[in-house]
Amino acid sequence: MFPRKLSLLLSVSLLAVPVLAQQQNTSKPKPKVIVLGVNGMELDIIRPLLLKGQMPNLSRVIENGAYGKLRTVSAPNCPRVYSTLFTSTNPEEHGVSGFLVGGITANTNMLKEEPVWSMLSKSGITVGMANVPATFPVMPVNGYMISGMLTRGKNCEDGVLCAPKLSEVTGGDAVYPKSLQPELLKNVGDFYIDCERMPAAGDLKGHETELINTWLDKVQVIRDQQTKLFDYLLTTHPTEFTFLAQSCEDRTGHWLYPITPFNVGYNPSINNVRQDAFPNQYVAFDKVLGSILKHVDENTYLIIFSDHGIKPLREFEEKDPHAHLDHEKTTPVIAKHDFADGDDVPGSFFAMGPGIKHDLRLMGLGVSVYDVAPTVLHIYGIEQPKQMRGRVLTEIFEKTDNKVVAKQ
Ligand SMILES: [Zn+2]
Repeated sequence: MFPRKLSLLLSVSLLAVPVLAQQQNTSKPKPKVIVLGVNGMELDIIRPLLLKGQMPNLSRVIENGAYGKLRTVSAPNCPRVYSTLFTSTNPEEHGVSGFLVGGITANTNMLKEEPVWSMLSKSGITVGMANVPATFPVMPVNGYMISGMLTRGKNCEDGVLCAPKLSEVTGGDAVYPKSLQPELLKNVGDFYIDCERMPAAGDLKGHETELINTWLDKVQVIRDQQTKLFDYLLTTHPTEFTFLAQSCEDRTGHWLYPITPFNVGYNPSINNVRQDAFPNQYVAFDKVLGSILKHVDENTYLIIFSDHGIKPLREFEEKDPHAHLDHEKTTPVIAKHDFADGDDVPGSFFAMGPGIKHDLRLMGLGVSVYDVAPTVLHIYGIEQPKQMRGRVLTEIFEKTDNKVVAKQ
């Protein structure tokens, strides 16, 4: 029901953009917001890295902004939480309840509630998005969109937890507008749209060390490509609202979380090989953040969030035959996040920008994935629509003066 409504509304609103933009130009410029999603970022792993000074860029964001845990939904996974975050409605309402919905890979045609980027587009705000999960096939926006996790293509026919290259995408458009695709292929290269599939248990047996190292090298290749893509987009296609996402961290955690022998699923031939693999993902992420921070000036809002955390399997998981065979049901998984109680694996939230308090620690689980979209709308002075279940995070702002448009 929603997509038809969206395309109708968008076609009308896009026509109105030049007029709107002219009007805005005579007044003050619109806020610039960059949202960076990190799939499954786990604070338990990050805290020691912050203490050791291995994440200087995230430290800078924490010192200059507000941060804390981010309450997620029950049985959290990427498509389920991202769709909740960008519509501020619950999974039953927005329709993208998981990787598969009714046996079919989740896609944007299933989205029954309007996402925040569509609302921003209709308000004349320029929107740029790249690698955000559950945005395939891409939707028209007042800017550009490059899809992320759940994009289908060669060697990734079902689109679930694998990675086609941009040139290998099938079953829908991965880039809007279409003219951007050849430009990206020329200037950024033929990048992987999502992270690498995890190796199967059968392939690992007897070749653990070799396969783990090869897999981690590929993950770094993908991250380097994403860094280049993000930098290219922020440099040559700056937009007022930009939403970027990373997904390799979570996948590494699932099978290479640094666990000890008493943890469920411990297998020394895999879990003793690279205890540094998962923490290293965040050290590498911090470098990506550094490249993004070059595009963040004192007038830019930066929101970093993770949709959920990730924790080692619990003792009771041992009785669950699927516990070790999560994600494609073939990989020896030792950590997960789709616990029935989402409060077991909260995500994280970091925000800095004009009028946002400095060094503010958000206690408890008072901030939720439902609150991100209303807060972004608030920054642009757009009233929160009735269907949104979240709230504006007023506690992170110094006060609602002219720096932040107050219109609630
Ligand atoms: Zn995961």
